[in-house]
Amino acid sequence: MPDDSILIPDPSPERRVFTNRTLNMRSIKAIGYDMDYTLTQYHAEAWEAKAFGHAQDRLAGLGWPVEPLEFDAAMVSRGLVMDLELGNLLKATRFGWVIRAMHGTRFLDYHELRRAYSGTLVDLAEDRYVFLNTLFSLSEASLFAQGVELVDAGRLPRGVGYRELFTAVRAAIDSAHRDGLLKADVLADPERFIVLDGDIVDSLLDQKHAGKRMMLITNSEWSFASEIMAYTFDRYLPAGQTWRDLFGTVIVSAAKPGFFTSSNPLYKVVDEERGLLEPHHGSIEHGDVFYGGNARLVEEYLGLSGDQILYVGDHLYGDVHFSKALLRWRTALILQELESEVRALSGFLPTQQRLGELMAQKEHLEAKLSALRLAALRARDGYADPMFDVGDGEAAIIETRSKILALDDVIAPLAIEAGRLRTEAWGLMMRAGADKSLLARQVERYADIYTSRVSNLLYPGPYAMFRIGRLDLPHDPHPQHEIR
Ligand code: IMP
Ligand code: MG
Repeated sequence: MPDDSILIPDPSPERRVFTNRTLNMRSIKAIGYDMDYTLTQYHAEAWEAKAFGHAQDRLAGLGWPVEPLEFDAAMVSRGLVMDLELGNLLKATRFGWVIRAMHGTRFLDYHELRRAYSGTLVDLAEDRYVFLNTLFSLSEASLFAQGVELVDAGRLPRGVGYRELFTAVRAAIDSAHRDGLLKADVLADPERFIVLDGDIVDSLLDQKHAGKRMMLITNSEWSFASEIMAYTFDRYLPAGQTWRDLFGTVIVSAAKPGFFTSSNPLYKVVDEERGLLEPHHGSIEHGDVFYGGNARLVEEYLGLSGDQILYVGDHLYGDVHFSKALLRWRTALILQELESEVRALSGFLPTQQRLGELMAQKEHLEAKLSALRLAALRARDGYADPMFDVGDGEAAIIETRSKILALDDVIAPLAIEAGRLRTEAWGLMMRAGADKSLLARQVERYADIYTSRVSNLLYPGPYAMFRIGRLDLPHDPHPQHEIR
């Protein structure tokens, strides 16, 4: 028998699959894949700069002075929230506390942040807030942030406030995606926009041969999807095979999240060259291309329940939120940025350990200071056991306080460094200070597993058991806290 080290591949940490809820891949009978930013990875900066440019042209067409603006990838990140009331971009914790905010392109200082948000929790159900669900959101957020400065300078037409600005930016980005010019740019120069990954075909072949029914379910229209899929996959397949051999079911223009929430009718693409459609009621497998439809139809046709279907996508709302919340499908989220996130965390590990030790020292000193203050109070007011002389107590308080201040001087630069990991402007994607970020909360809620790319499924393979480790709770005993 081969050695375990050969049998069980050990991918680098950033290519692992992470588990929020235990998932036995052997129970999964069908796998649906999203295309954009899932099966096909794009160079987000190039794509988003292009989308930004097309949206900018549309706003310029309204006479808005947007020509000098440029997409700035460094100032935006998935998981941030646009606040349409105050014109800010926010980073929030899992509970919705705002820990960092940018107005236009300027970060709020501590006092401004407190004034604006100390009494406010970000609730994504309110229409005041717009969550950046996918990498496609980056151009929109960058254009909104820069547009806020035009609103403030009074350079946009009267009546255009932050909310109206957002509506116009949204419409401009939307039409950039819909009118075909942006996609024509991508298809004309695919090397510039698409990240190729040879491992992905092997991971899909494993799943297919293991008997999973393979489905492509994308919001992209047929004309775009067929070219992108051919470009991404055909080069890695044996001669004579195409991407169509990998997917028994192909559904384009799926209109997610509506696909998961509605009963949209299904059409068959009867003329693939010209994209002609006709209503369809029969089988949805065997190499035909379908248009629209809905998730219930898919379940019915496959004869499977939600927990036997895995959907893999990159959009937190459109792909994993509804498929999980409404249909109880199993879900996998693709987060391309996870690779830089994990690399940044690994590089910071020694400093993180040091920071942990310093914080433990600080906690100890804070406990001591609190006890000293209590003892001084009792001594002053002459009740309970005074424990020590008032004068000695004062000296001890002063000494302890100055030790804490000295420790703070060591901790502060390290904490600032920790807050700038991965991105200088917004820090880590999944953390907000010591807490989880709002994005991390969405991920744990809706994604059973998450990973940086589909090809990472190659390592655990189609028979894997993704198991959740035991989670820490604040009251869990630690080895150093012996129980008495
Ligand atoms: P999927 O990720 O494979 O489902 O496909 C996403 C599709 O949605 C791509 O064709 C995108 O161009 C398109 N898309 C992304 N954002 C927007 C938008 O704001 N309006 C319209 N289409 C969009
Ligand atoms: Mg997608």
